[in-house]
Amino acid sequence: MTKPTRVRIAPSPTGDPHVGTAYIALFNYVFAKKVGGKFVLRIEDTDRTRARADSEAMIFDALKWCGLTWDEGPDVGGPFGPYRQSERFDIYGKYAEELVEKKKAYRCFCTTERLAALRVQRRQQKLPPGYDRRCRTLDPEESAKRAAEGEAHTVRLATPLEGVTVYEDKLRGPVEFQNTQVDDQVLLKSDGFPTYHLANVVDDHLMEITHVIRAEEWISSTPKHVLLYQSFGWDQPEWIHMPLLRNSDKSKISKRKNPVSINYYKDAGVLPEALVNFLANMGWSYGDDREKFTVPEMAEVFSWDKVSLGAPVFNGEKLQWLNEKYIHEKSYEEIVDLLMGWRFNRDHLLKVLPLVRERIKRLDDFIPAAAFFFDGDLDYKGIAEKLKIGDLKKTQVAKLVKELLENYEALPDWEAEALQQASRDFCEAKEVKTKHLFMLLRLLVTGRKASPPLFETMEVVGKELCRRRLRQGAEFISKQK
Ligand code: GLU
Repeated sequence: MTKPTRVRIAPSPTGDPHVGTAYIALFNYVFAKKVGGKFVLRIEDTDRTRARADSEAMIFDALKWCGLTWDEGPDVGGPFGPYRQSERFDIYGKYAEELVEKKKAYRCFCTTERLAALRVQRRQQKLPPGYDRRCRTLDPEESAKRAAEGEAHTVRLATPLEGVTVYEDKLRGPVEFQNTQVDDQVLLKSDGFPTYHLANVVDDHLMEITHVIRAEEWISSTPKHVLLYQSFGWDQPEWIHMPLLRNSDKSKISKRKNPVSINYYKDAGVLPEALVNFLANMGWSYGDDREKFTVPEMAEVFSWDKVSLGAPVFNGEKLQWLNEKYIHEKSYEEIVDLLMGWRFNRDHLLKVLPLVRERIKRLDDFIPAAAFFFDGDLDYKGIAEKLKIGDLKKTQVAKLVKELLENYEALPDWEAEALQQASRDFCEAKEVKTKHLFMLLRLLVTGRKASPPLFETMEVVGKELCRRRLRQGAEFISKQK
């Protein structure tokens, strides 16, 4: 009897909701719909140093906005819960122990100092990074005794020392790895937390996932996962690695070249059906050169043989073209609702007004005074001369803006006071006058020399649009003479 189809996405809540997550969610969702399977959302939050509290909620909201809803997950529950790995903590240790008993894994007592020294040594010897397997040959009794005495240790997979690991990728055919190239991966960290590899495989097994549909960047992890399935004696799921989304220069999509947060597209007035339709065309084709279709239409004709592995380029113009088509199809009533849901609503107006009230004498002053709270990209041509910091060269100015952006990225909240502090600290570190930097920021974020208080304005314009304007501003400046 064939098992019921179950697919999943397993995002780690480490930052803003990524378009790549929506892309992979879409293919999981559509495949589940096509075959009448279940689509599961699991949160992989075992890396406590990288997890961010608000990120999970943002992932839920962004995927719901895209219309890609799940049948089981942390918020909706389901028969295979909990669906958050931090709540499954007790499960993983015993599986690691099972592999130690089967001699498929071993305890490693090497200290962080030894491992650091090993890394340096291997680099000097021009060897690839990896563990030298010192603890692999420890006597099992001694290993058990040291662990019982409370000595800190990790658990590592005992990768076969020869041979190949092969798995069948539905899109790529057999993929082969030399076992000598696969490290003795840590499965359980010394604090008892599982690594991504262990938690991911154990959960996919326990949640009865039949198809792992994920991005190409995980291909190099897959042999480790296959070895884990084999070590446990479990059936493997089908493996499907979707092509990576690319920048126009074919590099992996990155926020330095394209906005990657789903929230950016939402804030920039892209309709969710246009974004999802655009993602559907990335590496998959509907057929008959048809580029505009809905998710249910895609699900009806979906098959894996329509996926092509060429590097799909994330092309903003194509997205714009689709968006325009969707907007033009809407009724006036629908567009009014969209506008109100977007920025013309009470909540947003109540944030804008305290910043512009002093500047309006009649209601008809509002639109001109507040335009930059509603604009997407700004045009810097008219103010090109003013975009400077003292007498620094244009390339230096552009570099500083990009560096400042990196500092902003590290802020936990996009909030006026924190932005102000980060900007002041930056001026001090770079020996730039605050007066100069703040004027440049004002020009880039609002397009004007005079605006409401800068950092409050940046807070209300919002993280996504500010980031976009600063990045585009830096690009614009770097192209000036
Ligand atoms: N937690 C991984 C991620 O962040 C999951 C990768 C996978 O699908 O196995 O994408």
